[in-house]
Amino acid sequence: MKKNDKLIVVTGAGGFIGGYLTRFFVMEGFKVRAIDRKPVSKWYQVQPSAENLCMDLTRNDECEKATENAFEVYNLAADMGGMGFIENNRVACMRSILITANMLESSYNAGVDRYFFSSSACVYNQELQKDPNVTALKESDALPALSERGYGWEKLYAEMFCEEYWAERKLKTFIARFHNVYGPHGTWTGGREKAPAAVCRKIAEAKFENLDYIEIWGDGTQTRSYTYIDDCILGINKIVHTDELIATPINLGSSELVSVNTLVNLVEYIAKLEQPLRKIYQLDKPKGVAGRNSDNTFIEETLGWSPSTTLLDGLIKTYAWVEEQYLISKGIK
Ligand code: NAD
Repeated sequence: MKKNDKLIVVTGAGGFIGGYLTRFFVMEGFKVRAIDRKPVSKWYQVQPSAENLCMDLTRNDECEKATENAFEVYNLAADMGGMGFIENNRVACMRSILITANMLESSYNAGVDRYFFSSSACVYNQELQKDPNVTALKESDALPALSERGYGWEKLYAEMFCEEYWAERKLKTFIARFHNVYGPHGTWTGGREKAPAAVCRKIAEAKFENLDYIEIWGDGTQTRSYTYIDDCILGINKIVHTDELIATPINLGSSELVSVNTLVNLVEYIAKLEQPLRKIYQLDKPKGVAGRNSDNTFIEETLGWSPSTTLLDGLIKTYAWVEEQYLISKGIK
């Protein structure tokens, strides 16, 4: 079969990661069906040569249409956002299980060859993430489970769904646990944005509105690793085409651990601020676990590869894009 006879289905294609993944497969020469609940006019990226559809994939009938004649399915659709969103919208996050249940069953019925699920570092046991100097999390640290309420538990249960579709029905499923993916063409304002985009926006605001301060959620000591979007897309493609990883969750994340304070300092440097901003810590805002990092031993062993874009390089591209969006939104550009 030639590449352009194979139909790749990407869900959540109007969102951040799904938008890049759709572009990747279009550029690789595949036929792509791109699906999102949002109207196409609101997608972050649209590939004119893809079949771009607006569907609600919590509905089984829509999932059946979505997977018709599909060769591979990449299920990235989910209700999701940064800490502010997931802590205050647990029901919406948990309802994403409907997407997983219906997409798996439809993919199985359609005879799909490979199925990918975008899981999250939020599945990890929170007891292991109480210290900013956290020991990086390895795949086995998800169990015994004490995941992030709502969003994290939904992802963990969805992982198990994928594992059982392989165990009982031989649908080849692949599961990556993303760690804080960031880059241009993602959510940067409105309440669902994650830390890197939020920090870029706040620093652009300070720069152009002559503010001398920045508001930070928490005390700034919380640590995370941040994964640049290009590494995420490359990693997904490698994971799905490695048989050793069938039904085996794997970390897909950078292991460059930094505090939120360091993240802010880096973006200030990139934005060329004349003075560092005064940091105002908002201790009552959602801040998530104290520390989280990705242990990349398993991905390096299986793929001989792990994400390598430095935070500085990724943030340079991300800040430039967010600053441009900010200026456009203010009618300055
Ligand atoms: P995103 O919010 O930009 O994209 C998700 C897309 O799914 C949205 O465009 C949304 O409209 C769509 N969607 C939601 N419900 C739907 C439905 N019922 N039917 C059809 N489409 C629906 O998020 P993202 O950052 O691109 O994340 C993609 C996937 O990766 C999600 O599953 C997310 O949970 C997972 N993930 C992301 C990160 C990250 O750092 N960005 C980290 C861990 C896991």
